[in-house]
Amino acid sequence: MDTHFPNRSYGRITALGTGTSQGVPVVGCRCAVCTSQDPRDRRLRSSALVELGETVFLIDAGPDLRAQLLRSGVERIDAVLFTHEHQDHTAGLDDLRPLYFAQNQPIHLYCSESVERRLRQQYAYVFENADYPGVPQFEFHRIGPGKQTVAGVDINVLPLWHGSMPVLGFRFGPMAYLTDFNRIEPEVYRELEKLDFLVISALHKEPHHSHWHLDGALECARCIEAPEVRLTHISHRMGLYDAVNPGLPEGVQLWYDGAVWELK
Ligand SMILES: [Zn+2]
Ligand SMILES: [Zn+2]
Ligand SMILES: [Zn+2]
Repeated sequence: MDTHFPNRSYGRITALGTGTSQGVPVVGCRCAVCTSQDPRDRRLRSSALVELGETVFLIDAGPDLRAQLLRSGVERIDAVLFTHEHQDHTAGLDDLRPLYFAQNQPIHLYCSESVERRLRQQYAYVFENADYPGVPQFEFHRIGPGKQTVAGVDINVLPLWHGSMPVLGFRFGPMAYLTDFNRIEPEVYRELEKLDFLVISALHKEPHHSHWHLDGALECARCIEAPEVRLTHISHRMGLYDAVNPGLPEGVQLWYDGAVWELK
């Protein structure tokens, strides 16, 4: 794709979380999915870790971030990329504090103007008391649709529609991560040609006003034509992993927390 994309043998994407905004199990729910003993039915809020060469990207910082960073043994993050400002993608910003102390330099946040505005409101204690000891330092960087270099790596930022809200998807060479959307402009499909691995959100089986339901996500994935597709941002109403997964088209699977895909 470009000259700055690092050696393919050092790339991988890890599912830090694959659940919708309430996570799975849902608090107080006794349905078959929420009481399942299968670890693949337990879904933290949606987030992914992308490692390319020496560079570590975190996509979104939701309310389960601390548990996710611990589970995957994350010790360093070079860039946090935000898809959009909803709480299930931003509520864990403070959990980056230990990495700020360990790295001893600001954590770099890459986002749209609306995400920055929301983060500055939500974390007023960080941005209004920047000199207070123990407050983490963050540095904002604006990103928007198009190809750009982030932390030394060329990525392609893709505009998507989450109902009427613009959100960002990300392509890293042969992998792409697209979540929280249910509309994609025809020209954006051209930016998604020749992928090896696609992560796309699919909420549950019934249509929804701002998320792809299963059939919508499958149709979108079919248009993108990636050989390997993983579904994320999943609700308990999707059904049990073991019941849904075998019925999906070839190459498509429900993603599950902790799953790792490596570039070949
Ligand atoms: Zn979400
Ligand atoms: Zn449930
Ligand atoms: Zn959302």
